Amino acid sequence: MIVLMKPHCSQDQIDHVIELLDEMGCDHCVINGSKQHVVEVLGARDHLDRPRLEKAPMVDLVLEKSEPMLAADRSPDNSTREIPLGATATIGGTKIALIAGPCAVETESQIMDIAIAVKEAGAVGLRGGAFKPRTSPYSFQGLGEKGLELLALAREKTGLAIVTEVMSSEDVELVSRYADVLQVGSRSMHSSPLLAAVGRQSKPVLLKRGWCASLEELLNAAEYIIKAGNPNVILCERGIRTFETYTRNTLALAVVPELKRISTLPIVVDPSHGTGRRDLVAPMSNAAVACGADGLLIEVHCDPDIAWSDGDQSLHLDQFRTLTSALRPFVSASGREV
Ligand code: PEP
Ligand code: MN
Repeated sequence: MIVLMKPHCSQDQIDHVIELLDEMGCDHCVINGSKQHVVEVLGARDHLDRPRLEKAPMVDLVLEKSEPMLAADRSPDNSTREIPLGATATIGGTKIALIAGPCAVETESQIMDIAIAVKEAGAVGLRGGAFKPRTSPYSFQGLGEKGLELLALAREKTGLAIVTEVMSSEDVELVSRYADVLQVGSRSMHSSPLLAAVGRQSKPVLLKRGWCASLEELLNAAEYIIKAGNPNVILCERGIRTFETYTRNTLALAVVPELKRISTLPIVVDPSHGTGRRDLVAPMSNAAVACGADGLLIEVHCDPDIAWSDGDQSLHLDQFRTLTSALRPFVSASGREV
């Protein structure tokens, strides 16, 4: 185990950690880096009190040595990474980024109506799948390149940044020609060739947590992208599969503050897939912002009853407007802006 001290800690503060370790009966050695110092814990750890070490002044992190150090790990001088969302917006700064739109691009009028409405309500990004990962091969699979063209048209008209999914490595070049942010879906989070392929292009990537993936697996998936050359990864909590059935998934909001603690990457919450229920999207959006999310990914449709996919969880346009205004007190209470 190592105790990583914050930069500019004093010798007294290092000595204090050493005293604590002595009290806990642990052996130790100090490694002095050029910017940060590390106290390594050696030998028996029967009486080691990790929370006490974590609370000591100027201790940054206490890590198991086997815990991999990832490029996305938070270090004291890198707060959340601010990542561009198209030409004018960013995510990870003071502003909460609202990304909204249909599950899938269906027709020109559908995507235009939705884009104009979500933009008016305060969204900075337009989501919409042109390549759809569907459970059944007989369900609508997306419009493909035609869908990407319609998204580009919607960007031209509204200025919204386009967030759209890429499902296979072969399509990365095509999708990155149209999209501002490439989405890697929950089903694809474990696909290391796809992660490496989106890592080799320059558009930011919105990486959804696999519905059976641990936090560590999510961060390692992000690592594949970063290692391939693209540091602009936005993490997305979209619910995990549990025994619970009243919601489509269980939205695990505790990952938000935890990711803020351990990672430098911005985090978006998707309450639409996270609950599968339209009536739960607004309260869970409020909760996501309250616990520190940098953005929200929300499904919105001009006529959810006839949506080609995920209608039950899609908000009507006026419901999205109501959501964004009801969100404001939560945004300011968490020290952010929209
Ligand atoms: C989506 O965003 O429409 C989607 C398919 O999400 P997920 O990959 O989280 O299921
Ligand atoms: Mn969907």
